[in-house]
Amino acid sequence: MLGDDIKKLGFGLMRLPKIGQDEDIEQTKKMVDLFMSKGFTYFDTAYVYDGGKSEMALKECVVDRYPRDSFVCASKLPLWNAESEEQLPLLAQESLDRAGVEYFDFYLVHSLNKDLYEKAEKLHAFSFMQKFKAEGKAKHIGFSFHDSPEVLERILTDHPEAEFVQLQINYKDWEDDVVQSRGCYETARRFGKPVVIMEPVKGGSLVTMTDEVQQLFKSVHPDMSIASWAVRFAASHEGILTVLSGMSNMEQMEDNTSFMENFRPLDEKELETVAKAVEIINAIPTIPCTACRYCVDGCPMKINIPGVFKALNHYTVYNNPEAAKKQYDRAVRDGGKASECLQCGQCMEHCPQHIDIIETLKKAPELFGE
Ligand code: SF4
Ligand code: SF4
Repeated sequence: MLGDDIKKLGFGLMRLPKIGQDEDIEQTKKMVDLFMSKGFTYFDTAYVYDGGKSEMALKECVVDRYPRDSFVCASKLPLWNAESEEQLPLLAQESLDRAGVEYFDFYLVHSLNKDLYEKAEKLHAFSFMQKFKAEGKAKHIGFSFHDSPEVLERILTDHPEAEFVQLQINYKDWEDDVVQSRGCYETARRFGKPVVIMEPVKGGSLVTMTDEVQQLFKSVHPDMSIASWAVRFAASHEGILTVLSGMSNMEQMEDNTSFMENFRPLDEKELETVAKAVEIINAIPTIPCTACRYCVDGCPMKINIPGVFKALNHYTVYNNPEAAKKQYDRAVRDGGKASECLQCGQCMEHCPQHIDIIETLKKAPELFGE
């Protein structure tokens, strides 16, 4: 199967460490070195990640420092940025140039859902992807996806040339009615497509858990991190090409590589433990924001929406108003406050989690003041 020779942990370059507004290149290099030294090879970026700085970090930290055949890298075509078919090769070439590579091992149409798929069809995006591959600029083509199993089925039926699919899979969303991880995964596998998994820790949500959940996991494996359960759950499924983890510091890199170096799928008892954790979590209502930040760029008030939601979730899950207010203050320090939302709705068009952002933001001033 495609990806059989790739280890099941990929380095997602979406949330790299930062110094101010820029990627912390020196720290990222150290993270890359540890990752590569343990035999991991898959790097995932996209045209839109951090306005192109993620692709440039790939060049500086990996491409310029390692032989091209010692790693594989993926990037993604942003249909949001394209008004015409003619722009697609320009956007793709820009990604290649930023990353400093002649080809991507994996190239994806980014974040398809029902609406964006219509645009993809209008712009003949899949024909372009095939041409890009035929020119040797992509070894394998696929798409990342955020919608229902039915929409996925339609795309895979229309486009058998897609060689793999990237899906959001984590134990919290596995049976979730909105995200439908299990349904999407089963659809992809029915079509025989290998699956790249994104958001295995749900944007960090499955790392900071309630005491009850932490105790449950620690009672089974006292020495293993809470994140390890989520990454191992994702990687335990059959047909997985790799599991992307958007690591932001050396500590996360050390942790992830430690348990994924000699990966062992979850056994029956461990799966039961995860099911119990989900029961506990599901009893706590939180905002299902994965911090993908697709909503942020177009906000006229520059509201750090995922930062505000993180603070609200912290408030809900930990019942610690003081810590949550500090998080909120940090989140809105450099942009608009939640109370300044104009209710224009721009953000909601981009949210793959279908969050009612406008209504949810209103809770912040109620809880944290202006
Ligand atoms: S609805 Fe509010 S948060 Fe969303 S883009 Fe408009 S101003 Fe920003
Ligand atoms: S609100 Fe939606 S689009 Fe914005 S960061 Fe969260 S999940 Fe992403």
